[in-house]
Amino acid sequence: MKTIGLIGGMSWESTALYYRIINRAVAERLGGLHSARLLLLSVDFDDIVQGQRRADWDGLGAQLTECARQLQRGGADCVLIGTNTMHRVADAVAAAVPLPLLHIVDATADAIERAGCRRVALLGTRYTMEQPFYAERLARRGIDCVVPEADDRATVHRIIFEELCQGNVAPRSRAALRDIVRRQLERGAEGVVLGCTELPMAIGAGDVDAPVFDTTELHARAAVEFALAPAQVLEPAA
Ligand code: GLU
Repeated sequence: MKTIGLIGGMSWESTALYYRIINRAVAERLGGLHSARLLLLSVDFDDIVQGQRRADWDGLGAQLTECARQLQRGGADCVLIGTNTMHRVADAVAAAVPLPLLHIVDATADAIERAGCRRVALLGTRYTMEQPFYAERLARRGIDCVVPEADDRATVHRIIFEELCQGNVAPRSRAALRDIVRRQLERGAEGVVLGCTELPMAIGAGDVDAPVFDTTELHARAAVEFALAPAQVLEPAA
């Protein structure tokens, strides 16, 4: 089994979900007492949030690159950035560190393709919904995004930072998220991307009458696929 390197703590609430999903998925595949080989480097989320507010994406990219290097030195075979938003700097990290970076949008796009959807609602932080990095990567796979209107974007962003990242979910927030999703389905979305790794704490498949793409689950399971894939045997050149 290969060793998964996870940059977590963004927030730690969702990192706890990753840890559980990854270990459960390894046990499902291998049975019994098997669990994942995993290195976790968990950052102080407040540092990251300050950088986001200053729009210091270069500084954040450098910070996560250093995390990835630490994971590499520790023996990780791949790197996961355990948040959608911080995939804003994924290309910089991937370019600087010679380990496969398992991209959350790619894992999500694979699932959207499997479900046969072409147009999905994207819920996440303001950065994920409003900056091009996420929607453009889905567009390269032929998938269109429906992004909520400004008021709804502000509501989702507020719920993520003021509640979910602090381990709270108000019942009225669950209801608000369900209403926001319903409006996106009325606007033509065929499914919903929970494009924030804490959103599954507040909304899930049972709340929505359409396919729900839980990026935490999909990203974590992609890591397990990578870790359990048979080692590639390189054929000698003819
Ligand atoms: N975990 C969230 C996400 O998936 C938000 C936290 C962050 O800003 O990284 O986008």
